[in-house]
Amino acid sequence: MIQLYIPLNFLGVIYREIKQSLTDLDKMFQLLEREREVQDAPDARELQLAGPPTLRFENVSFAYERGQAGAEPGRPILRNLSFEIPAGHTVAVVGPSGAGKSTLARLLYRFYDVGDGAITLDGTDIRSVTQASLRRAIGIVPQDTVLFNDTVAYNIGYGRPDASQAEIEAAAQAARIHEFIASTPLGYATMVGERGLKLSGGEKQRVAIARTLLKNPPIVIFDEATSALDSANERAIQAELRRAASGKTALVIAHRLSTVVDADQILVLEAGRIVERGTHGQLLAQQGRYASMWALQQSGAEAATTA
Ligand code: ADP
Ligand code: MG
Repeated sequence: MIQLYIPLNFLGVIYREIKQSLTDLDKMFQLLEREREVQDAPDARELQLAGPPTLRFENVSFAYERGQAGAEPGRPILRNLSFEIPAGHTVAVVGPSGAGKSTLARLLYRFYDVGDGAITLDGTDIRSVTQASLRRAIGIVPQDTVLFNDTVAYNIGYGRPDASQAEIEAAAQAARIHEFIASTPLGYATMVGERGLKLSGGEKQRVAIARTLLKNPPIVIFDEATSALDSANERAIQAELRRAASGKTALVIAHRLSTVVDADQILVLEAGRIVERGTHGQLLAQQGRYASMWALQQSGAEAATTA
């Protein structure tokens, strides 16, 4: 009895361990499954750009989920969307929350592939190039920045591994995060993330801005890049972002309309469709959705400053 008891107990432990590692494997496969959503084509080439490219969304439709049993398509998020950003120009996207603005950024960065249509850079479908080469060409300041569990210097320098300490600090200066970093005991060697210094949303956003300034890529995406900042910092950083976008092919998703006034073209997105497009002046003259959003924000800004 005794003799049997020990091995059985032992087997129990092993069984639990195997079971545990099976569920971990399960999680891993689920994760891989999700990552497999976007894979390099077997014949994927390196993206070669001579400079800032012309960027096109051509009849793009997209849904996140596949629907029940993968049979029906999921809820459509973008519907037959077309627009062009000429090389070196800035197109801004505005619209209510849930309209699909961040989805545009995710598709361009290829976190997901389009359901229908294509996204092209100088005529090359982004599905035909390696994800690594695509992402090297793009600087993105996302809505929610996730930092690596590494030093501040690593987090800023990521994307330009050859950057010198002086270049890293210059980028941090421009993104108005240098003084904060310098005030910590370890400075640029401070660990951030889960196991290190916890940064606020605005601080993380400034690290992402510094990273993009340093990376100096031909394509930039700002997704409400200053939304987590107070208005004094926002104004200061906006000038830097404008500089970072100048001469680049830029997709600027904006929450405050004051940030898009200078864009070459503004798209108003609603429920996954472009409902208006034009310059700030043209859209105001049109007296449509943009004009009323503008009027609303202007009165809001006035109320805020007079409060
Ligand atoms: P915006 O940036 O304009 O506020 P998003 O592009 O983030 O809008 O989202 C558009 C729609 O897609 C929303 O209805 C949102 O709930 C949905 N959505 C966003 N991300 C996902 C996801 N990972 N899975 C399923 N639905 C999503
Ligand atoms: Mg968004």
